[in-house]
Amino acid sequence: MENNENNKKIRVLTGDRPTGKLHLGHFVGSIQNRLKLQDTAEKAFYMVADVQALTDNAENPEKVRNNVLEVALDNLACGVDPSKTTFFIQSQIPEIAELTIFFLNLVTLARLKRNPTVKSEMQQKGFGEDVPAGFLIYPVSQAADILFAKANLIPVGEDQKPMIEQTNEIVDSFNRIYGETFSHVSHLVGEIPRLVGTDGNAKMSKSLNNCINLSDSDEMINKKVMDMYTDPNHIHVEDPGKVEGNVVFTYLDIFDSNKEEVADLKKQYEKGGLGDVVIKKRLAKILCDFISPIREKREQLAKDPQAVMKILEEGTQKARIEAQKTISEVRKAMKIDFFD
Ligand code: ATP
Ligand code: MG
Repeated sequence: MENNENNKKIRVLTGDRPTGKLHLGHFVGSIQNRLKLQDTAEKAFYMVADVQALTDNAENPEKVRNNVLEVALDNLACGVDPSKTTFFIQSQIPEIAELTIFFLNLVTLARLKRNPTVKSEMQQKGFGEDVPAGFLIYPVSQAADILFAKANLIPVGEDQKPMIEQTNEIVDSFNRIYGETFSHVSHLVGEIPRLVGTDGNAKMSKSLNNCINLSDSDEMINKKVMDMYTDPNHIHVEDPGKVEGNVVFTYLDIFDSNKEEVADLKKQYEKGGLGDVVIKKRLAKILCDFISPIREKREQLAKDPQAVMKILEEGTQKARIEAQKTISEVRKAMKIDFFD
């Protein structure tokens, strides 16, 4: 990928579920790579995954609809550029649904149930056997999201790796049965494959309420950092504290550019004599400095929601052309191109 020539053949697709505002985990897990790749890839797509959001929010259409604008704003504010990246809304590309139906024949129920990410998300949402069928099969619709665009590089957080594996299995089955149509897909995990939540949970996630959003005010950032999980046994300043598993240090390692000072702080903390408030104040300032320019740009863009919808509409039209090309190829390969 260092090589520009190679990058010309790279087609990138990525997306977010419109289930809430985007957070620092999105930035380090995926958006950073979206920004890098949009300059060099042959084509880059950014999808607002509203159909996928509905798989576990079927009774909440308002929430999903309202967040379409929010996630688009977050990406624009971070610098995902519609002149380089085609923005589109998943539900407005019906060919994705059609591909999903065809792909479902190539996947077994047992395989779907084994997907580790789906498994843990089902547990987290308390679904059990009452899981909506649409939710269980979302990895298959994700394969359709990727393959309609003939994308081959997917910048994602670590939780999405199993989806890419499943996509490649679908590619193999499809090509074996219907002839060479799709190519294998690679994922590109961000600098930080999985950012922990402010509560110490393994993943910062919109659904877990443990996020620092890219739109948070300085006041909110300060509050969230002050409430952050540290070392529960570090009660008095003079007590020796644990650095490992301490979210404040995890974040300092990622966002603080002064690595030497962080190393010194860690030593002091482990020895005892360094209070949580000191390290929290340092982190809060760093995060405020990081987020404020994004938030300010976002506030500007949010003044004209119609302009954002126009970006999505124009992008969707472009993406639809790709989708129609792919679906006619697929129908032909599957021998169901009756009236084409
Ligand atoms: P939800 O809880 O609704 O699933 P989410 O916070 O997981 O929301 P998604 O829209 O599902 O966000 O994820 C969008 C992209 O951001 C995916 O590529 C995902 O892997 C990545 N991502 C999300 N959270 C993190 C995180 N904490 N660390 C790294 N990457 C992340
Ligand atoms: Mg998710």
